Amino acid sequence: MEEKKVYESIEADASLVCGQCQEPLVKGSAKFSYMGNAFPVELPMCPKCKLIYVPEELALGRVLKVEKELEDK
Ligand SMILES: [Zn+2]
Repeated sequence: MEEKKVYESIEADASLVCGQCQEPLVKGSAKFSYMGNAFPVELPMCPKCKLIYVPEELALGRVLKVEKELEDK
């Protein structure tokens, strides 16, 4: 049993499809860069062209929270 440390894991919703390929998105590993730091995350992405779907909640609130936790160390 493997468990990776990821800051955010977002399931691919069945309604999410790639605008270019019309392929349903699948959950995959990605890195979210913010303020010079890279955070490992799991996000819905296109299996064909690797387009990564970034939900608005992650782009704004969640990432700011992650950065706050790092500052407190
Ligand atoms: Zn695609």
